[in-house]
Amino acid sequence: MVSGGSGFLGSHLCERLLADGHDVLCVDNFFTGSKANVAHLLKDPHFELMRHDITFPIYVEVDEIYNLACPASPVHYQFDPVQTTKTSVHGAINMLGLAKRLKAKILQASTSEVYGDPEVHPQPESYLGRVNPVGPRSCYDEGKRCAETLFFDYWRQHRLRIKVVRIFNTYGPRMHPNDGRVVSNFIMQALRGEDITIYGDGTQTRSFCYVDDLIEAMVGVMATPDEFTGPINIGNPQEFTIRELAEHILRLTESRSKLAFKPLPADDPKQRRPDIGLAKDVLGWSPTIELGEGLERTIRYFRGKL
Ligand code: NAD
Ligand code: UDP
Ligand code: UDP
Repeated sequence: MVSGGSGFLGSHLCERLLADGHDVLCVDNFFTGSKANVAHLLKDPHFELMRHDITFPIYVEVDEIYNLACPASPVHYQFDPVQTTKTSVHGAINMLGLAKRLKAKILQASTSEVYGDPEVHPQPESYLGRVNPVGPRSCYDEGKRCAETLFFDYWRQHRLRIKVVRIFNTYGPRMHPNDGRVVSNFIMQALRGEDITIYGDGTQTRSFCYVDDLIEAMVGVMATPDEFTGPINIGNPQEFTIRELAEHILRLTESRSKLAFKPLPADDPKQRRPDIGLAKDVLGWSPTIELGEGLERTIRYFRGKL
């Protein structure tokens, strides 16, 4: 089962699990995902799509659960922040209750946002983070932190088999073109010849992982021995400033868009880069797709959309 399976990452995960020979149940309320993302899978008899909001209980029979349901872009998770926290917290409780009844293995799609605006760089899993509990990003950050707490309490209290993956900024085809994330925004703006909106002075950094690398690691984490719970960072440690990203996208699209500087949103982390030492040790994994190559594939997808 993949909750949030018709979203950006979820749809790639469903595809991958089908290719590996699994039966896949995709559960999604289509808040930010869409049927179009999985339409090509509907004819596969091993694929099933179910409209459901995970803040409500669900009774199905599965043996592995990937819990990805949650809006992920700041624009979408701040649209209805109470629902965002409910999705992370009530959603996690329902998914964990389901896993407990079924004795199923369960993986949580957590996030680098649990580190907040970090004072340790790059961020190892042992870093406890610096998160504002009362800001506009808190519904997401604290919701995801609480979900991690629930996972570890179900592990300690009910001996559930859990895996917690902390995902760093990931991009690729099927990102929502209007979700406001930096890669989709810049590519759409560049392709349309509109201004590239840089928030702040563009010196803040992020590390961008191409979706295929992320999915490879996620499936790898699910297959680790039961003793391994994580949390484990997954991301690409190559770090870029937002301005560098804009310039890269302008080059690749041969766009004549201009850079336009806008105010920096509240609590926007100044730097972010994963320490992926644990993933290298445990999974023998590291990302293989360079930013340029991943951006080219993503640009091709968005060109097709236009
Ligand atoms: P996305 O918005 O494309 O996918 C989220 C999916 O969850 C959507 O299909 C949405 O409709 C669904 N959903 C939302 N609320 C739901 C609910 N209450 N019940 C059922 N379905 C619901 O985002 P994504 O980038 O694919 O992110 C997937 C997961 O990975 C999220 O949990 C996100 O927090 C996590 N993550 C993503 C990134 C990234 O860079 N893409 C980084 C860190 C963590
Ligand atoms: N739950 C679910 N599907 C199941 C089993 C449980 O959705 O197959 C939900 C149920 O609604 C419950 C939550 O998961 O509220 C937590 O379940 P748990 O067994 O941990 O707690 P309890 O049922 O004792 O509240
Ligand atoms: N950003 C930007 N212009 C945009 C969208 C985002 O400069 O049009 C910046 C944003 O302020 C942040 C970075 O790009 O510093 C990454 O933003 P995103 O929303 O993609 O992810 P997150 O902040 O959750 O890492």
